[in-house]
Amino acid sequence: MIAIVAEGMIRRNLLRAMIGIAAADVMMGGGAMRADADGGFRVYTRKEWGAVPPKRAPRVLNRPPDHIIVHHTASPNTGERSQAHAFGLSRQIQRFHMDSRGWDDIGEQLTISRGGFVMEGRTGSLQAIQRNGLVIGAQSLHHNEHTLGIENEGTYMKEDVPDKLWESLIEVCAWLCTAHSLNPGTAIVGHRDYNGTDCPGDVLYRRLPQLRKEVARRIGEDASSLAAASQDDRRAIGSGRPPRIAGR
Ligand SMILES: [Zn+2]
Repeated sequence: MIAIVAEGMIRRNLLRAMIGIAAADVMMGGGAMRADADGGFRVYTRKEWGAVPPKRAPRVLNRPPDHIIVHHTASPNTGERSQAHAFGLSRQIQRFHMDSRGWDDIGEQLTISRGGFVMEGRTGSLQAIQRNGLVIGAQSLHHNEHTLGIENEGTYMKEDVPDKLWESLIEVCAWLCTAHSLNPGTAIVGHRDYNGTDCPGDVLYRRLPQLRKEVARRIGEDASSLAAASQDDRRAIGSGRPPRIAGR
């Protein structure tokens, strides 16, 4: 089992280098997505965090989002960083959005906990990203049909985001910019750019220029790995192909 995992990791890393995809480029057996053998990045599915079914099937567009909206959840800046807490957070947000707000499902497409765990939000979000489409969420009034929202756990009016959350946010944005051919310099925005809100907090909002730069650098590093790879490596992987999708 360990050997298989290790081999998979090497292949994923190579795939990542070859295709120039920064992040979750491989659909795993259980439907989960992950990449990155160096510890970082996996998107946990709705099944994994225990989502309830949506009231109605989501609307899905056959075109990608043109902007990525960074939010904060405006919930407490907890010191709890575990996976169990992260999954509980997603369940709590979903309950709030469906029961109190009366929405069909959780509003955002992706959620990141203060411990850096990344969870799928609205039904079908991962599949839509892989197909370069968009599941229409409920995360930015009047702008849901062209944007994808990332909810970051916490309140960032005065306090800064934890390093683990920040690192995951870079990975997620690099993945999305690559998957949807977006320029991080213009595509990454804060919720307050579209609606009258404090979200994503003064501190996190002020860090968006840095986020754009770090995402661009992450994408650039992957592109250089591709350029540096040998001809044989490229042939073995099949250069330019979209990410491998397994288990579906
Ligand atoms: Zn927001």
